[in-house]
Amino acid sequence: MLNIVLFGPPGAGKGTQSQSLIEKYSLVHLSTGDILRAEIAGGTELGKYAKQIMDKGDLVPDEVVIQMISNKIDANLAAKGFIFDGFPRTIPQAQALDEMLAQKETAISCMVSLTVPEDELVSRLIKRGQTSGRADDNETAIRNRFNEYMKKTLPVASFYQNQHKLYQIDGVGSLDSIFERIEGVLSHFSA
Ligand code: ADP
Repeated sequence: MLNIVLFGPPGAGKGTQSQSLIEKYSLVHLSTGDILRAEIAGGTELGKYAKQIMDKGDLVPDEVVIQMISNKIDANLAAKGFIFDGFPRTIPQAQALDEMLAQKETAISCMVSLTVPEDELVSRLIKRGQTSGRADDNETAIRNRFNEYMKKTLPVASFYQNQHKLYQIDGVGSLDSIFERIEGVLSHFSA
């Protein structure tokens, strides 16, 4: 299997690049943000619970997102591989993911981390907020999402670096040129 963690701060372009990657590599895209937003749109209990946390830019508890991802992996056992987007976002999530994949006799192939300067990220997110309708694309929530990222999520890059699986990619430029950089990394791995 080809199992990729697409990593980077809010606004780095993970969702956009994931769309191109699933088309080219026929992988299953698992975005915890998208799954949670679908729960909100469906008006489920989980959605109602998650919405108040997400609107502030806080992280949803580990056990909730770990269970969500575990269900999705089990529902897609025939997949060629997965793109994890927005997950793992904490060290306990990364540890749980390693265990889940080991149980399926597979593992993370690599983490592709998109690097973008902070002022570029903020302007992208504020621009997205004008059209996305996302309740967490306002200045207060954006600031909080960055704080959460620095405190809880950035250590996840070191977790994969320790496993020699971290690849840093320049996340500034045209969508195509960034995609080519990601392809360059993935060419070292086979499904
Ligand atoms: P972005 O990458 O723009 O920050 P996402 O769509 O990945 O946005 O996530 C939106 C929100 O969903 C996060 O701010 C958080 O509240 C929640 N969320 C998504 N993934 C996770 C996760 N793995 N762990 C905890 N909370 C999460």
